Amino acid sequence: MGSHYALHCPNCNYTNPQCCGGTESGMAVTLSTVHCSACAELYDVPVAEHGFNYKEVPIRCPKNKRHGVVLWKDPGPCPKCGTLLTHEGLSALWDQRWSQ
Ligand SMILES: [Zn+2]
Ligand SMILES: [Zn+2]
Repeated sequence: MGSHYALHCPNCNYTNPQCCGGTESGMAVTLSTVHCSACAELYDVPVAEHGFNYKEVPIRCPKNKRHGVVLWKDPGPCPKCGTLLTHEGLSALWDQRWSQ
């Protein structure tokens, strides 16, 4: 499992409750965090699928494939206002998930 954590912007109160903040390899896919400037949002999107064949997937906005996205790495700027995002509640997030 990767380390998902909540990201929080101290300036505009943007929060992203679940973000790998870089690249994370799972059983079936590799996820990377991308920034869509059109949505002003961060998304974890698949960048590669590992099935019988390893296949790279073109990164795109999950909401609109015409949106251009760029890879985003933690620590990085808020997608809305550009302030450096801070981490929030890693263990709390995991506790919540496991108790659900
Ligand atoms: Zn912000
Ligand atoms: Zn978008």
